This record gives sequence, structure tokens and C-alpha cells, in this order.
Amino acid sequence: MTDTRTGNDTPKAVVLVSGGLDSATVLAMAKERGYAIHAMSFDYGQRHRCELEAARAVAAAAGVVAHKRITLNLDEIGGSALTDTAIAVPEQPGEGIPVTYVPARNTVFLALALGWAEVLGAESIFIGVNAVDYSGYPDCRPEFIEAFNRLSAVATKAGVEGRPIRIETPLIHLSKAEIIREGVRLGVDYGLTVSCYNPDEDCRACGRCDACRLRAAGFEAAGVPDPTRYQTD
Ligand code: ZN
Repeated sequence: MTDTRTGNDTPKAVVLVSGGLDSATVLAMAKERGYAIHAMSFDYGQRHRCELEAARAVAAAAGVVAHKRITLNLDEIGGSALTDTAIAVPEQPGEGIPVTYVPARNTVFLALALGWAEVLGAESIFIGVNAVDYSGYPDCRPEFIEAFNRLSAVATKAGVEGRPIRIETPLIHLSKAEIIREGVRLGVDYGLTVSCYNPDEDCRACGRCDACRLRAAGFEAAGVPDPTRYQTD
């Protein structure tokens, strides 16, 4: 595909890239829409480094204009199995919102993305939240995104001057299988991505956590070979 929107008038978008399957797909979708991509990742005190290494690889493979990594010590707040090593990552599905929920994580991430988007003069922020095959996190739901869009319109100079930065969530109503098929169509290399909450030192997936289960079921339902490296391989 020839990119004809390479001049200075190319619209910009900030894309939150976690290193997982969903954000890699969103990155490819934003690129297809013709945006100059400014990727943003967070070192937020998560248990493992694998997702940040994956985020770097995914952004590099997509040829982003810039990739900013912000360090946040959300582990000082704790309260999640992903930021507090004293809380175990569950290996069986449970009731309600799981302990892998990170308190207010997407609120914090989107607030920083909103600030960077305003500095860049970006039109949109893309985030790979999904409310179909997901873990039930409140900050992945449509009502959260709608509320953040209302916030964006009143919280920024761009917003009050009539150019609100939009939060775009192209995956929100897609199944995991639909997300994977869309990514395959766009040439996403899912072998670069890491979804597991509990990978080993070689970044191989556990195959048992919530994220691993959703991901494996998605590849199976999509009829696409699963490129994930598992610890049992
Ligand atoms: Zn896992």
C-alpha cells in the first residue's frame, strides 16, 4: 500500500501500545486510516519487562514516527496482581473483576496520552480496549470511553477551542477472533506480541492466566495458527 499522506498535513494520532495483541492490531488499524503514528508505552511498575520489549518491537515493525515511553510507579499504589508481586496472578477464572485489574490504569494512561496529543496537535488517541472477550475491567467499557471523550472536550485548550481530541476504540465491540482476523489482514506479526500476565524470563507465555486463555481461544476461533511461544514448548 502506498502512503500518500506523508506531508506535514498528515493527521497525527497517539496510539497506546502495550506490547499485546489488541494494541498491535489497533496500531495497524490507525496506520491504515492514514495517521502519522506516535506510539506511547508505559513502564508502570508491571511485574515483567516482556511487554515493554514487545511494545518496542511492535512499534518498530509498524514504522511509527515516534515512540515515547513514560515511566510511572503505579506499583507505589499497588492493589493489582500486575503491580504487586505479593498478589498472585490467578490461573482459574473467578467471579467479578479479577485481581489483574490495575486501579485507574487506563484513566492515567489516557490522561498522559491526552497531554501528548495536545502538544503534538494530534486529532485522535487510539486505545485497544475491548468489551467482548475481556476480563471485565471497568476502564475498558464503552461508558468509560464516552465519559473520557466528554472530559477531553472540557479539559484541554484544544477541546474548549472546538477541536477536541477524540478517543478511538476500533476494537471495543469485536470478538478476539475478529480482532485477530483484522490484524492478519493488515499484516500484524502476532509473534512479536506478548499477552501473558506471567511469562518466564525468556518471555514465553504461561498458557494458564486469563490473558493467555482469551488469546488462545481467539486464535482457535479465528482459525489462525497461534504463534505464541509457550513455556511448555
Ligand atoms: Zn499467561
